[in-house]
Amino acid sequence: MPVKKKTKWIVVTGGVISTLGKGIISSSIGNLLDMRGYKVTNIKIDPYINVDAGTMRPTEHGEVFVTWDGGETDQDLGNYERFTDNKISMKNSITTGQIYQEVIRKERNLDYKGKCVEVTVHIPEEVKRRLHDAAKNADADIAIVEVGGVVGDYQNILFLEALRQMHIYGDDVVFVHVSYLPIPATAGEMKSKPTQHSIRALNSLGIQTDFIIGRANNVIDDLRKEKISVICGVRKESVISCPDVDTIYEIPLMFKKQGLDENILKKLHLKPLKLNGKLKAWTSFVKRIKTVSKEINVGIVGKYFETGDYTLEDSYISVIEAIKHAGYYNKVKVNIQWINSSDFEGVHAKKNLNKLKNYDAIIVPGGFGGSGIEGKINAIKYVRIHKIPFLGLCYGLQLAVIEHARNLCGLKDANGVEIDPKTNDPVIDILPEQRKLLEKKQYGASMRLGEYPAILKKDSQVSKLYGGLKKVFERHRHRYEVNPDYLKKLESYGLVFSGMSPDRKLVEYLERKDHPFFIATQSHPEFTSRPLKPNPLFNGLIKAALKK
Ligand code: GLN
Repeated sequence: MPVKKKTKWIVVTGGVISTLGKGIISSSIGNLLDMRGYKVTNIKIDPYINVDAGTMRPTEHGEVFVTWDGGETDQDLGNYERFTDNKISMKNSITTGQIYQEVIRKERNLDYKGKCVEVTVHIPEEVKRRLHDAAKNADADIAIVEVGGVVGDYQNILFLEALRQMHIYGDDVVFVHVSYLPIPATAGEMKSKPTQHSIRALNSLGIQTDFIIGRANNVIDDLRKEKISVICGVRKESVISCPDVDTIYEIPLMFKKQGLDENILKKLHLKPLKLNGKLKAWTSFVKRIKTVSKEINVGIVGKYFETGDYTLEDSYISVIEAIKHAGYYNKVKVNIQWINSSDFEGVHAKKNLNKLKNYDAIIVPGGFGGSGIEGKINAIKYVRIHKIPFLGLCYGLQLAVIEHARNLCGLKDANGVEIDPKTNDPVIDILPEQRKLLEKKQYGASMRLGEYPAILKKDSQVSKLYGGLKKVFERHRHRYEVNPDYLKKLESYGLVFSGMSPDRKLVEYLERKDHPFFIATQSHPEFTSRPLKPNPLFNGLIKAALKK
């Protein structure tokens, strides 16, 4: 009989302020333990009521990361996958909404057998069940649980309570608190008081942290490490410095230098297995990032960039990372520029379109709704005519089809029904089953989601990029499709459908023969790009950009 695995737990909490990079820190710990040969899985707890991230605007929440099994999750799952090269399940994304939904479902089913169902008892119980279920599903030696928000928030208390209970009642749990150490200009020195308060807040919930990771502009000096250690009740070697760095991919190496992984393993009563070959590959990857000197410019034409006075690049974080991976792989630093699609509409459109000449490649990423669409279509027309390397992702494919239909097939009014429901030529249409869902207002988790196969056309550019593979898998998140009634017409004017769904009904990839690199996909290939294994389409785009 196989021995039942008992997963060990690392819980990462945050203190003082949000957006400290807890996701990257959890990913980096995962990366190091993976290099030591442990089977690691990263889990994210999001304390909001939304059942998943799928119903939130990108400017509200950042990117929606799609898992292979169709989960619409927090963007941190993307970091976890990139740092550990794991394929993470939707089970690893837990929200308050999911917990309450399940408890209420059970209550309605009389599963609690007439008991009073209570927040303080049954909610943490369901949290623990979900955590164990995720760890078991991943067959994990070690599960790293990142608790969203900051200690002291009202929203995440029940999750922290569940984790406290796990620690007290039988699970091996190590707590890591990520805190912020400000250096106020007027004081001129690093202050640890906010961290002390944050640890107090954690103590008041019955949790004593084992490690403190101090985020700051600079490294934490010895004196302050000593002070934090004494006041916060952790060993001095367990106070870890995490200053700002040039590249996030350097963070695992920085933690390794400070012995974080070894000390965590010791606390979990696990052997510090020897670091394997992955460390060498990762180290030379980081070295390459720091030494590339050649630069190219890639423009992203989109619309989810601005919140107030700030640019929110988080909306496209996987696209950005995929571009970087492909860049570093080809020994070039890619300057990514945000181009608002509305620049290509109205009176200044022509002048602005001409600026696209200055780019080595253009990407039109995914999106929803009708605003900014004409600008994107104009940009696609420009890069088609001027032979600028182009990659269209999801909506990017749909808009490339509309552009082709309007400007080359003579279907002047061609459109997608998402943009104009009454268009005479719906070259992008909605599947009948999707239409029914929308009519019933069933918006949550109802798109075509997750991994789907595509059969690639022999000898096409796309098939060559994928190394001659006949069948490839990428992740999807969309409701609309290229209308099969128009395929023949679109093809007869020079568009090549180089990848189709196995039943040959849905377009998955397209390319052009009259262009050095004009490729689009209905999928989101950005989700499968890894630092050491760039996605083939992004790799191809960067190679084409270098040739230009
Ligand atoms: N809005 C389009 C659709 O739903 C494209 C979605 C996307 O780009 N992810 O089909």
